[in-house]
Amino acid sequence: MQYEGVLNKMQTEFNNPIEYYLVFKNNFLNINQILDRTIQIEFVGYECLNCGEHKKIFRQGFCYDCFYKSAEVGDWIMRPELSTAHLGIEDRDLAYESKVQLQPHIVYLALSSDVKVGVTRKTQVPTRWIDQGASKAIEIVEVPNRYLAGITEVALKDTFTDKTNWRKMLQNEIATEDLFAIRESLLDKLPEEVKSYFDTTSNRLLDLNYPVLQYPTKIKSLNLEKTPSFEGKLKGVKGQYLIFEDGTVFNIRTYEGFVVNINIQ
Ligand SMILES: [Zn+2]
Repeated sequence: MQYEGVLNKMQTEFNNPIEYYLVFKNNFLNINQILDRTIQIEFVGYECLNCGEHKKIFRQGFCYDCFYKSAEVGDWIMRPELSTAHLGIEDRDLAYESKVQLQPHIVYLALSSDVKVGVTRKTQVPTRWIDQGASKAIEIVEVPNRYLAGITEVALKDTFTDKTNWRKMLQNEIATEDLFAIRESLLDKLPEEVKSYFDTTSNRLLDLNYPVLQYPTKIKSLNLEKTPSFEGKLKGVKGQYLIFEDGTVFNIRTYEGFVVNINIQ
C-alpha cells in the first residue's frame, strides 16, 4: 500500500483504544490497522498548509510568511491570557479572533507524565488531550471565553507545569496522581472572576487508552530533513507520535506541511 500527500496532524476518534487516521487529499490511512507492519516514510517536499505553495515549512505547517501573517497563529494561541477579542481589540484579524476566542473554553488538568494544566476550546475536548498523549484528564472550569481560561491557567502555573514531558509520556512513565482530588483542592487558587464557574463544570475524570503494543525504552526522534527516508516496524501511536520497534518516534505535528510518501509493507 502506498500513500502520498501532505502531513496534517492525525485525526482521532475517542474509542478504547483511541483510533488514529492520517488523512490525505484523496484517501486516508487508519493507523491502528497497520500496527506491527513495516512502514517506509520518505520526505518528498514541502506544501504550506495555508498558502499551498512549496515553500520551506517554518512552524506549525506554515511557511515563514504565512506564519507571521496568519491570524491563526497569533501570540494568544500559545498564551491565551493575551486574548483581547472580549474587549473588541484586534491582534491580526478581529473577526477571526472573535470567532475563536469568544466561545466556551475549558481549563483542565491532564496526566501525561506529570500533572499539567492547559487550556482548550470546548469543541476540542477530548481531541486536545489525545494529541498530548494524556492518560487521564479532568476539567477544572468551563468559561465563556479564551481570556478567562488564560488567566486561570496563569494562576495555576505556579502549582503545575504547562508542558508535557514527551519522552516520559512516550515511555509511559506516568506519575500516580488523583486528578479528582487535586481538582477539588483548586477552588481557592482560581481568579475571582472565574470561581463561580467551578461548580457548574463537569468533574468527570476521563481515561484514555492508546494503541501501543510496545513502549520504547530508549527514544530517538526521527528528523525527516536529516533522514529523508526511514523504515521501521510500527509498534504504537500515542499523542501525535508514531512509535517504532527500534525506539524511533515520529512526531507528526512537527512535520505538518511536509509532503511524504508512505509505503506499508
Ligand atoms: Zn504559506
